[in-house]
Amino acid sequence: MDLATRLKLEIDHRRDELFALTRDLIRIPTLNPPGRNYLEICECLSDRLAARGFQTELIRAHDAPGDSDRFPRWNMVARFEGARPGDCVHFNSHHDVVAVGHGWTRDPFGAEIEGDRIYGRGACDMKGGLAASVIAVEAFIAACPDFAGAIEISATADEETGGYGGVAYLASQGRFAPERVQHVIIPEPLHKDQICLGHRGVWWAEIETQGRIAHGSMPFLGDSAIRHMGAVLAEMEETLYPLLAGKRTEMPVIPEGARASTLNVNSIHGGEPEQGADYTGLPAPCVADRCRIVIDRRFLIEEEIAEVKAEITALMERVRAGRPSFRYEIRDLFEVQPTMTERDAPVVRSTAAAIAAVLGREARYVVSPGTYDQKHVDRIGRLKNCIAYGPGLLELAHQPDEWVGIEDMADSAQVMALVLADLLGR
Ligand SMILES: [Zn+2]
Repeated sequence: MDLATRLKLEIDHRRDELFALTRDLIRIPTLNPPGRNYLEICECLSDRLAARGFQTELIRAHDAPGDSDRFPRWNMVARFEGARPGDCVHFNSHHDVVAVGHGWTRDPFGAEIEGDRIYGRGACDMKGGLAASVIAVEAFIAACPDFAGAIEISATADEETGGYGGVAYLASQGRFAPERVQHVIIPEPLHKDQICLGHRGVWWAEIETQGRIAHGSMPFLGDSAIRHMGAVLAEMEETLYPLLAGKRTEMPVIPEGARASTLNVNSIHGGEPEQGADYTGLPAPCVADRCRIVIDRRFLIEEEIAEVKAEITALMERVRAGRPSFRYEIRDLFEVQPTMTERDAPVVRSTAAAIAAVLGREARYVVSPGTYDQKHVDRIGRLKNCIAYGPGLLELAHQPDEWVGIEDMADSAQVMALVLADLLGR
C-alpha cells in the first residue's frame, strides 16, 4: 500500500475524532475582544498533543497589547521530532474568535451538527482548520513514523485584533526564524482547493481638519472644520477614487473587486461629541473646530507605502490651495506591507500537488484582500515560505450561523497530510 493510500485510511479512521475535536474547540468561547478562555483552549490542545508524544509549551505574551491578569494572552506550541534530520513544517492557527453579533438561529457555542455542517462562532474561522491540521498531523505520524524533520502545531492569540499577543510575539522570540521553521501553513478558511499566497498592504490613518469655534448663529465668525472635511471628501470622490480604481494588480486577489487599490472611510467625527442615550437635552450651537476621519487604505504589491501616503498629502494640499484658512494633520495609526509567497516555493508546490491528488482538480492561487498572521511570519520571522490553506468559506467568517463542512475538513486534512508526506516523508 502506498503512503497516500495509508494516509487516506488513517484520516478516514479519524473522522469522528475530527468532528469531536472541532466541536470541543467551538464550545470554548474564546471571544476577542476581550480575549476570553485563552488558557482553557491552549490547555485542551496541549493535553491532547502531549498525550500523543508532542512536546508542548504554553506561552503567555506578557505585556502584549490586551494582555492583563484578567485576560492573559496565552499561546500553545507543540513540537514532534521525526526520526531523522530534516525540515520543520509548522501549522499555525489562531484560537480567538470575533463577537457573536446578532442574527443567529443556532447556539453560537453549541457546535450543533446538521447534515454536513458544524455550526458555531469560529467554526470556519478557524477552529475547523485547526482541528483539520491536528488530525492531519496525527494521521501522518501514524502512517509514517520514520519521517524526517519535525512538525509543529501552534494555536495563537489575537489574530482578529492584529496578532500582537500571538504570532507577532512568537515571531519576535525567534520561533519562526528560518533556521528553526522552514514551511508554514496557516489553515484560514480559504477553501480546500485554493492556496492563499499572501495579502494586500494596509495603511490606516486619521486625518483631522482644523478650524475655529464660534457661535452657530454667526458661523462667519468661526471656521468650520466640518466644511473643510466636506471639501476633502469631495476631492476624494472627484480624483482619488477614480485613481485607485485604475490601479490594478498582478496579485490574484479575491474577490475580484479587491484586485485594485481601495480606500474606506471607517469613521467621521466632527464638532460636539455625541451625548449618551440618557442625555435628554439639546445640542449647543457651535461651529466645529475639529473634524476627523479614519481612513483604511489597502494597497498593492506594485505600490510603495511612501507613494500611498504621498497621494493623501497631495490631495490635502490640493484642497488647501482653494481654502486659505485650511489646516490639517495626518496621523499614522497602523501599517502592514503587502506580502506574496512565490508560486514555486516548496510549501506552495507541495500543496498544489496534494490538492490535485486529493480533489482531482488544479489548485487555484489567491491572495487575501485583508491581512492575517502571515504578515508577522514574513516581516518579524523573515520566513517567506508561508501560505494560508484550510477548509471553509471565507464569506462565512464573522457572519451569524457560521459553519464549517465536515467533508471539507476531512478533504483538507488529507491534503495537509499529503503535504507532510511530500516535505518530510521521503
Ligand atoms: Zn481567521
